[in-house]
Amino acid sequence: MALFGAMVGSFLNVVAYRMPAGTSVVLPPSACPACGHRIRAWENIPILSWIALRGRCSACHGDISPRYPAVEALAAVLAVLAYLHFGWTLRALEASAYLWVLLVLALIDWDTRLLPNRITLPGIGAGLALGALGLLHRDWSLVPLPHAALGALIGYALIWIPDRLYRLVRHRRGFGGGDRKMLALIGAWLGPLAVCDAFALAVCAGAILGGLWAAIRRRQIQSAIPFGPFLAIGGAVVLFFRPRWF
Ligand SMILES: [Zn+2]
Repeated sequence: MALFGAMVGSFLNVVAYRMPAGTSVVLPPSACPACGHRIRAWENIPILSWIALRGRCSACHGDISPRYPAVEALAAVLAVLAYLHFGWTLRALEASAYLWVLLVLALIDWDTRLLPNRITLPGIGAGLALGALGLLHRDWSLVPLPHAALGALIGYALIWIPDRLYRLVRHRRGFGGGDRKMLALIGAWLGPLAVCDAFALAVCAGAILGGLWAAIRRRQIQSAIPFGPFLAIGGAVVLFFRPRWF
């Protein structure tokens, strides 16, 4: 799972780098952004290559961001956590996929303040499809279809309603349009109660970390803080600590 997770993490780096630019995530093969040096196979091994190259391109010796190995390591850790929590089951794979999607959304939102529909909408669809699979056998999905559908609706509404109210009062947007689709995605995968917990956690994490960030920078936050990374944190935590109220 760790090896598989690291390999997926390597792909998530490519998606996060290329999707906002609108280029294909498959072609052309990876190249150094500074000098265009084609990344060879041995330079493309997750985590290890970055360490072996000491974080520098082999051709131009330009810095390679430590974010690449960090994302690969995080994707590996998330997969291992899913395996430890769900065992050797279909659910462990589904949970891993869910966490990887949250990770790539957090990265893209951090970089661009956008949560692409090309990820959120298929993500919601996948959650509902797995819910339908759960109707065949309850161990085949994280939540059954009725919970997935209700979770997606509640996730969407949890951000849409306050955003509407905020706009009525302040005449500008509080949340980005992608946030509600990302929370709908969390609801589609985890159900109606977990999505409420995820939202509450995301708001708390955003208030605490956003406040710290502003204190460190010693100035008012002028630009919008991306909410996606906090939704990802909330959505990941409630996967492992599910409310068992029903
Ligand atoms: Zn280079």
